[in-house]
Amino acid sequence: MVRAGLKQAWEDSQPGIAGGHEEGGFILQDSAGILHIVRWPKGEQNGIMLPPHPNCQVGEHDIVATFHTHPNTGSNYLQEPGETDRRAVRDDPDLKGKLYKGEFVITWETIYLISPAGEVSEVGNTQEFFQETGGSL
Ligand SMILES: [Zn+2]
Repeated sequence: MVRAGLKQAWEDSQPGIAGGHEEGGFILQDSAGILHIVRWPKGEQNGIMLPPHPNCQVGEHDIVATFHTHPNTGSNYLQEPGETDRRAVRDDPDLKGKLYKGEFVITWETIYLISPAGEVSEVGNTQEFFQETGGSL
């Protein structure tokens, strides 16, 4: 379900050379341990704003991860997470909950994870990730 939600966000961001816009959201865990995606309002071509999320929660639910897309491949745009992306996660005191794993950045070729400390790692190949069924995030 989370995988399908991430794929939907990627498609909604209209990936292309320059016409796309960022999409993103929270991945929340409810008290029964079920994951839910709550999407953020549509972003700009190279940026997106998070709604308020005090104490690393939205409503009663804990944030386990956040994600956003980098849909544009033109030379004016970064595919990999940039300094601004890393700082946004690292310097956000409300993205430091016990369950919080970091922020996924979905690009054409690669899905990255920005850790709560602002370190970037590669999680996997985007197309393979979207094609797999089952498995965990
Ligand atoms: Zn970004």
